[in-house]
Amino acid sequence: MRVLGILPFARKLLINAVSRGDIVIDGTAGNGHDTLFLAQLVGESGHVYSFDIQVEAINNTKTRLNESNCDSQVTIIQAGHEKAKSIIPTMDHGAIAGCIFNLGYLPGGDKSVVTKSVTTLTAINDIFSILKKEGIIVLVVYHGHEEGKQEKDELLKYVTAIDQTIANVLTYQFINQRNNPPFIIAIEKK
Ligand code: SAH
Repeated sequence: MRVLGILPFARKLLINAVSRGDIVIDGTAGNGHDTLFLAQLVGESGHVYSFDIQVEAINNTKTRLNESNCDSQVTIIQAGHEKAKSIIPTMDHGAIAGCIFNLGYLPGGDKSVVTKSVTTLTAINDIFSILKKEGIIVLVVYHGHEEGKQEKDELLKYVTAIDQTIANVLTYQFINQRNNPPFIIAIEKK
């Protein structure tokens, strides 16, 4: 298949928006795959703020970064992404080039701890306000579980209503797959 799958497409969007030396956010550290990817993308001169509420995710992310010698350019924060704006130093506000969220639960972890629409929307709204021009927020939306469906509906309602003069908003989705496959919402600041 030549068409990009969901995760490769999410990364492609970030690659297009983020350069060495940039400041970026992983809103859901999870097992640390995206935090590591972002750390490699921005390099030692850049910085990644990586959030998760679960200690298991924080530890998995720390281990992964450590194994790849990328710890120096990452701040791992055990807090909800809805607090990102108050936690990220004000000198970095307006300089965020990219942000990724992998919604849902921690793969291999506690399936009862999931992202929730209210906090996800607060995070998107706040992080959008500190993006730089042409900075992007990429959301990978998993909606196979019960709360996931509600989160998806709320998210789509919210992003569809974003004024087109301030952002480009897209979805990327395989529409002939069964069993609620994940899809992408991306918001690029104009
Ligand atoms: N990107 C990860 C997968 C993330 S899974 C990977 O590549 O492995 C989703 C994560 O969101 C879980 O680890 C969960 O603990 C976290 N999470 C749930 N609510 C959150 C919140 N309000 N703020 C930050 N993280 C949250």
